[in-house]
Amino acid sequence: MDAGSLASELSFSEQEKIKAILLSHGHYDHIRGVPAFAFNNPDQTTEIFATPQTLKILSSHLIDGVIYPKFTKKIPFFLEKPSLKFVALEPFVPVDIEGYQVLPLPVRHTINAVGFELTSKDGKKVFYSGDTGPGLSALWEHISPQLIIVEVTFPNRLENRAINSAHLCPKMLKKELIDFHRIKGCYPQVILFHLSPKLEEEIKKEVKEVSKELKLNIGIACEGEKIIV
Ligand SMILES: [Zn+2]
Ligand SMILES: [Zn+2]
Repeated sequence: MDAGSLASELSFSEQEKIKAILLSHGHYDHIRGVPAFAFNNPDQTTEIFATPQTLKILSSHLIDGVIYPKFTKKIPFFLEKPSLKFVALEPFVPVDIEGYQVLPLPVRHTINAVGFELTSKDGKKVFYSGDTGPGLSALWEHISPQLIIVEVTFPNRLENRAINSAHLCPKMLKKELIDFHRIKGCYPQVILFHLSPKLEEEIKKEVKEVSKELKLNIGIACEGEKIIV
């Protein structure tokens, strides 16, 4: 899910195991790993699942034949077969991807964006938000994840910036989680990502406060971490 550091953080053999890529939206920090991934894995065709708006951004601004080759086509003397295949998703229409049921859900952001609820064959559910502003609670009646992976980009003192750029700060996240508890009667496991690098320490302190107030263990994602649901 998302491809900001797909090619920079995963080894070549780890990248080879990737069968499908889900993109939440078309901002650069979520798609930039796609071309390098395509360069590294030319012998297979990897499916990229995203909304038509996100696929359009990818094909017109990144994999456009100018900045990078059009990896979705055969290219003489370079690609014997396309290394990428685009598959369009519609919000609220579930699809089966590699044995997982994937439900795309619209989230509020500055451009078209979706989050994904993934359901495994044994019924475990994870919700990944991508970038999102407030209003996640509108989704809670549609999904029932045991784990949510959600962004928190700014500290509370930059709440206005978070609102204007359709991101979350810990205070806003707290409200979404309280709504989750009100609707579901319990909290999900929570892992946060997308913290502004320069403001990480400040955000982490405020997340700890929210953890205490809600009596809920909120984790911060780190590279290489394995999470068991
Ligand atoms: Zn974004
Ligand atoms: Zn982002």
